[in-house]
Amino acid sequence: MTDCLFCRIAGKEIPAALVYEDERTVAFLDIAPRAAGHTLVISRAHAPTLGSLPQNEIEPLFSAVQKVANRIEQVLHPEGLTIGINQGEASGQVVPHLHVHILPRFKDDGGGAIQSVVNRPPPESISEIAEKIHI
Ligand code: AMP
Ligand code: ZN
Repeated sequence: MTDCLFCRIAGKEIPAALVYEDERTVAFLDIAPRAAGHTLVISRAHAPTLGSLPQNEIEPLFSAVQKVANRIEQVLHPEGLTIGINQGEASGQVVPHLHVHILPRFKDDGGGAIQSVVNRPPPESISEIAEKIHI
């Protein structure tokens, strides 16, 4: 998609600090890093959400996430990593081209666990919800 920022980065029309690329994926440093090595991994295929990404792009994307995460651990020596996707406006997604954030973490970095981004415990029981979701 020519008007998509991340498609344009993948196509090298817009510069970015690339750290990995292959036929199907690209990884580059976030322009507003929340930690040194804050990286975004994308599929070259344009899809706004995980659900809309073609099945055959899933393995290449997550394989690239694994490679880049391993590399960040080797060279930057963080104490941990948070790896996640903001999907949909409510979650904070701003760029509508699916991207996986890799955030190097340290015990004293002022952040929290990924589940701490939301605090809306359900009134229903866990088993009721599980029944709804169960595939
Ligand atoms: P999200 O809230 O998950 O949609 O995050 C989008 C991320 O893209 C933010 O962390 C931005 O800092 C980052 N971003 C926006 N524009 C660029 C760019 N041109 N190059 C690299 N990262 C970018
Ligand atoms: Zn795109």
